[in-house]
Amino acid sequence: MGQEPPLGRDQRFILGGEAVQTVKTLDMLRTAVGQLRAGGKRIALVPTMGALHEGHMTLVRRAREVADHVVASIFVNPKQFGPNEDLDAYPRQLAADAALLESERCALLWAPTAEAMYPAGFATNISVTGVSEGLCGAARPGHFDGVATVVCKLFNQVQPDVALFGEKDFQQLAVIRAMARDLDLTHPHVDAIIGVPTVREADGLAMSSRNRYLTAEQRAAAGALPRAMKEAIAALENGGAVPDTLAALESKIIAAGFSSVDYAAFADAASLQPLSALGKAPARLLIAARIGGTRLIDNMAVGTGR
Ligand code: AMP
Repeated sequence: MGQEPPLGRDQRFILGGEAVQTVKTLDMLRTAVGQLRAGGKRIALVPTMGALHEGHMTLVRRAREVADHVVASIFVNPKQFGPNEDLDAYPRQLAADAALLESERCALLWAPTAEAMYPAGFATNISVTGVSEGLCGAARPGHFDGVATVVCKLFNQVQPDVALFGEKDFQQLAVIRAMARDLDLTHPHVDAIIGVPTVREADGLAMSSRNRYLTAEQRAAAGALPRAMKEAIAALENGGAVPDTLAALESKIIAAGFSSVDYAAFADAASLQPLSALGKAPARLLIAARIGGTRLIDNMAVGTGR
């Protein structure tokens, strides 16, 4: 076996496994992942846009249960933001995020620049049909193409054994599962895409990096969203008509102080196609609503309480 080159200052961290190493170039990423993989170790990938909270940390902890090493990525992906969305305002706090990841014994933080991810001349777009088309796909044209394109790149860059995503972004999870299946991204691991249940604040609001945009008053009002969803679920499970239940849900959210509802939908949990009644197959209530300038999304299972 040839002599290994001496380790750089950052690289010593990986071998100790004590501190997260932040890498910003693809060459460094490949070297670092190669070292982590030595001896047949399994790698889990947790893609994020940073501004990490307990929801992200839950993904990292779950990742550590299913793999030997966790690689987290932080990339505020310009391709998944529309022209009038919050790309510039999106919170960025790389040092604080690295410290959080380190506290959860994440081995590696992949934090590429936009130029490294999308060099001049970048010309490829990944578009998943079907599950990407309604809901947030309708409200945010191009959003899921941006998500699929960056996640495909992240998979190719890190080549993880498993990758973890939150059910908080339920449609995103469906899009990524479809892409991974169709493009053989995770072969041979059929269960390589792991969905993690949504982590919530004490009042039920789903944790989100965007919650920090809310004023104290908006934050207090936002708790009405999950409460109204639970009431809608109880109604659906008791045989309430779908259109009436969704209309009542929207009214309650607006009455609580939300400015508009992008959609409130009752859908098959796998296809995300609208359902006219609760049947035997897993079903989901999904909603996107705006409070002030902030767009919040949430979703919950329906039918499990019957
Ligand atoms: P983001 O940084 O918002 O792109 O989210 C990165 C990952 O964390 C995605 O897979 C999200 O679905 C997941 N995530 C975000 N918020 C939560 C939450 N409250 N509970 C569980 N997972 C979450």
